[in-house]
Amino acid sequence: MHIVVCIKQVPDTAEVRIDPETNTLIREGVPSIINPFDENAIEAALQLQEEHGGKVTVITMGPPQAEEALRQALAMGCDEAILISDRACAGSDTLATSYILSQAIEKIGDYDLIICGKQAFDGDTGQVGPGIAEHLGVPQATYALDVEVEGGKMQVKRLLAGRFETVAMRLPALITADKHMNVPRHAGLRGVMQARKKEITTWSAADIGVEPEQCGLAGSPTTVVEIFPPQRSHTGERLEGEAREVARQLFAKLRENKVV
Ligand SMILES: Cc1cc2nc3c(=O)[nH]c(=O)nc-3n(C[C@H](O)[C@H](O)[C@H](O)COP(=O)(O)OP(=O)(O)OC[C@H]3O[C@@H](n4cnc5c(N)ncnc54)[C@H](O)[C@@H]3O)c2cc1C
Repeated sequence: MHIVVCIKQVPDTAEVRIDPETNTLIREGVPSIINPFDENAIEAALQLQEEHGGKVTVITMGPPQAEEALRQALAMGCDEAILISDRACAGSDTLATSYILSQAIEKIGDYDLIICGKQAFDGDTGQVGPGIAEHLGVPQATYALDVEVEGGKMQVKRLLAGRFETVAMRLPALITADKHMNVPRHAGLRGVMQARKKEITTWSAADIGVEPEQCGLAGSPTTVVEIFPPQRSHTGERLEGEAREVARQLFAKLRENKVV
């Protein structure tokens, strides 16, 4: 079974700062991590590989430093890694990103299953996985919690609002991993050492054969007009006095605000 996992390198969210002039993330000096949902995607792929054999290929589109994310995925146990890095891909929105990734997966060829994270921590749209499936014309199941593969088919348990849904689909297919799907393994020292020696394949836009007008800013119909942290105003009130009286006042306020 050949599983392709799409991962995105994202800024460590606790550290995100936004340039107010350009509306872009300030990435300089900000540590980057694998998008946390993508670690669940990697773990799901590795568990399926342990059960069914085959190989796991991890792929990302990003600047050269995205190689760090691929090395981490290799250290976790993935077999092969591909970096798509080309200035022509810079500024891609979800439509262009999913197009480029789908073309790269077409080039990989013999895949049975594609696993993405349910959403990326920075862009946060959750559109790239479904977009890839659409471009490739394969069935998809988002918010996956559990997967069972048998023969050329699989069953996916999905986590929806207040209920579970199980869908059956044929392979090849695409799923997006929910964080409750599993607990991602840590890359041990041995894995880290082995990952250092592994080769990472780098593809340019021309290597994949994508149409230039469908990539980067040219291929991106959406634009982020403004990005800002939500402004919240908080007010507080201090209740003072004897404990029983303070408790009575607090209860009255909670009831007034329909908390109790
Ligand atoms: C500050 C900021 C400014 C932006 N400005 C613009 C802009 O001006 N114009 C514009 O069109 N778009 C802009 N974007 C959107 C940006 O292009 C998206 O982040 C990108 O297309 C992926 O979408 P997403 O992060 O919502 O991924 P999601 O769809 O939430 O990701 C879901 C899954 O898809 C996979 N995935 C996503 N991206 C990749 C990748 N690169 N490589 C491999 N797998 C991937 C991962 O498995 C991930 O878990 C901006 C985003 C930010 C944060």
